[in-house]
Amino acid sequence: MSQKDPQSQPAVVAKPASAPQTAPANHEPSKQQQGNLYTIVQLQLEKAAKSMGLSRDTALILSQPKNELIINFPVRMDDGSFKLFKGYRVQHNNILGPYKGGIRYHEDVSLDELKGLAASMTWKSALHDIPFGGGKGGIKFNPRLHSKSELERITRRYTHALGSNIGPEFDIPAPDVGTNGQMMVWIMDTYMNVVGFGEKNAMRRVVTGKTISSGGSYGRESATGAGTVHCITEWAKDHRFNLNGCNYIVQGFGNVGSWTSKLLSKMGATLVATGDYKGYIYNPEGLNPHKLSEHVTATGSVQGYKHSKAITREEFFQVEADIFVPAALELEVGEKEARALKVKVVAEGANGPTYPEAEQILIDRGIDVLPDILVNSGGVMVSYFEWLQNKRSERWDLEEVERRLEAGMKRTYAIVRDYAEEKKVDFRTASYSIALDRLEKAYSERGIFP
Ligand code: NAD
Repeated sequence: MSQKDPQSQPAVVAKPASAPQTAPANHEPSKQQQGNLYTIVQLQLEKAAKSMGLSRDTALILSQPKNELIINFPVRMDDGSFKLFKGYRVQHNNILGPYKGGIRYHEDVSLDELKGLAASMTWKSALHDIPFGGGKGGIKFNPRLHSKSELERITRRYTHALGSNIGPEFDIPAPDVGTNGQMMVWIMDTYMNVVGFGEKNAMRRVVTGKTISSGGSYGRESATGAGTVHCITEWAKDHRFNLNGCNYIVQGFGNVGSWTSKLLSKMGATLVATGDYKGYIYNPEGLNPHKLSEHVTATGSVQGYKHSKAITREEFFQVEADIFVPAALELEVGEKEARALKVKVVAEGANGPTYPEAEQILIDRGIDVLPDILVNSGGVMVSYFEWLQNKRSERWDLEEVERRLEAGMKRTYAIVRDYAEEKKVDFRTASYSIALDRLEKAYSERGIFP
C-alpha cells in the first residue's frame, strides 16, 4: 500500500462525547468541572493564543485535528469466539514533521480524549523543536482482562486495520497508558510484513518505544520519568531548593510514575505516598520505589505493599510533601484536590491532569505548576532519538541518549522560564506560546495548499 496524502485520508468524524471523561467512581475528582480533555486543551490554546497574539488563520487550523479515524475490527478470542473492538487514530497536525503520539489501551478511550491528547503532542513537539507533529491513538478496552495471546491479536488486527494511515515518515505511534514495548514490537512486525513488505527494515521506525532487541533505544523506557526529573531539578535550582532530603508524592505508578520515583529517590528525595487504579498507600518513613516496582510487577498494583499503610484518594491529596507528580490519567486534579494539596510544586508527568480552575487555585496558593507539555516530553524526545537511530542504522549507548535528553530538557526549561519571566505569564501559557509561535511561523511561510 502506498503512503497517502494526509489531506486525502478518509476522516470519520464522530460526535464529541457528551459527558466528561471520568475515572472509576472511587477515584473521581470530587468537583466535576465543565468539559472533557479536548475542551480543556482548547481553552488552554485560546488563553495562550490571546497572550501571544496568534493569528486567526493559524488558530483556526489548529482548532481541529487534520484527521480522525475510527475503526471497528473483529479479533478471535482464546475460546474461538470473535469480539469487535473500536480503535482510533487522531492526527492533529503535521506541519513540522510526521504525526507522532502514543497508543492507549483503556476502557475510557474516546475520540474527544484522543483529540485533546493529539493536540498536546503537536504543542509538545513544537515546544521542544522536535521535527514531529502530533497524533494519538487507542483502543477502547481493558487490557487487564485479556491474555497475552489475545493482546497480540488485538494489537496486530488494530495495526492491520490502520494500514497505511500510519507510516515511518507519516505517523509514528509509541507506548502510552496500557501499552508497552512488546506491543510496539507487534505493531512494527505487523506493519513491516503487511504494509512495508518491499522495504522491510526501513519500516522499523514506524513505531518508537520498542524493546531494545527489536530496534528500540536505550533510555526510552525511563525517558519520560527522566525528563520529569530534569524539570524538577531545574525548578529546584531556580528556587534554591534542596532535593536531597525532601518528600514527594506520585499519583500513578506505571511507566512514568515508577521511573520518576526511582530517579528522584536517587537524588535523595523520599517517596511518601503513591497510588494507582486500585488504591493509595502511604509511609512517612519512605517507600522504596525499586521494591515497590517489583511488587507492582508481581501483583499488578501498589496495593498490599507490605511496608505501607492503605489510605484513601482524599487522604493522598492531603499528604504533606514538597513535590506532587501526577502520573496517572488526565483530569485528576480538580478544585478540591488543588485546595487540599500541601506541596510546593506540581510537575505534570501525566498528560492533562489538571483542570484550569484547579491550576488557578494552585497558582493563587503559591504552588508552582510545571505543565505537561514541558515536563513529560522526555518520552517524545527519546522517541525521536530512536527514530533517528533506526533511520541511520545506528545504536547510541545509554550515556549518549541520557546526555542528549538532559541537554534537550534543560534547554527547553530555560527557554520557558525566561519567556514566563519576560512576559509575566505562567509556565503553561509560556510553553504553549513558544510552541504556537513555531507553528505560526511555518504556516505564515508555507500558507495552505492549493
Ligand atoms: P501506565 O499505564 O504505565 O501507568 C498508568 C498508571 O496510572 C498505573 O499505575 C495505573 O494503575 C494508574 N491509574 C490508572 N487509572 C488511575 C486512576 N483512576 N487513579 C489513580 N491511578 C490510576 O501509563 P504511563 O505510560 O505511565 O502514562 C501515565 C501518564 O503519562 C498518562 O497521562 C500518559 O499519557 C502520560 N505520558 C506517558 C508517556 C510515556 O512515555 N509512557 C509520555 C508522556 C506522557
